[in-house]
This record gives sequence, structure tokens and C-alpha cells, in this order.
Amino acid sequence: MEIKGSCLCGAVRFAISGPPRMMGTCLCSRCRKLGTSTIVFVERDQFTLTAGEGEIETVVPVPPFTYHRSFCRACGTSLGEPLSPETSFPINAQCLDDDPGVRNTFHEHEGDRPVWAEG
Ligand SMILES: [Zn+2]
Ligand SMILES: [Zn+2]
Repeated sequence: MEIKGSCLCGAVRFAISGPPRMMGTCLCSRCRKLGTSTIVFVERDQFTLTAGEGEIETVVPVPPFTYHRSFCRACGTSLGEPLSPETSFPINAQCLDDDPGVRNTFHEHEGDRPVWAEG
């Protein structure tokens, strides 16, 4: 089962060779503002960037924050961490074009949930 994904403009494209390890939503203000609240965690050996590596811009956070976040330079879509050197890394679930086979059952930083967000 191959799961495809892409940014809004289609410059950045990727494929995941099987169901991601998990899907979750982080409600902290950083993830929400970056547009990567809901992510899937993929393994390096199941993830292939099929187009647009040169279009990916990465924002390196000021310590103590450590998570790098990448965007498509052409359209601004928040991608997660497709260029991460880690063996497992987050990809923005909103970029998925196919059913990933996992469901969103995990929520983190519930205390930061905005008052307007549904439970
Ligand atoms: Zn794009
Ligand atoms: Zn967060």
C-alpha cells in the first residue's frame, strides 16, 4: 500500500510505502501556528521524497525548541520534517492525498487547546 502526499502547489511530492506508525494532534501554540498540528510519524525507510527537494525551506528554531519545520518555498505549505536525519519523523497529515490507514487518536498539550476548538 503506497500513500501519496504533496504540498498545495504540487512542487513537493512524497510517498510512504505503508501505514505510518501513528497519527496525532499537538495543540501547543507552536504547532498550531506552524500549521502542523496534526501529523503522522513515518519511518525513514518507508518515506520517499519523489519531487521538489530543492523547494523545501527549513526553519531552525531558537533553543530550547528543537524541532525543525519545513515548508514549500513556492506555496508555503507546512510539510513537517521531510528532511529530518532522524529514523522516525513527523509529516503534516494535511498533505496526505491518500488514506494513511491510521486514525487520529492521540492529542498532546490539551491544556493549550484554544477555546474555539471543538473537543
Ligand atoms: Zn508547494
Ligand atoms: Zn506542539
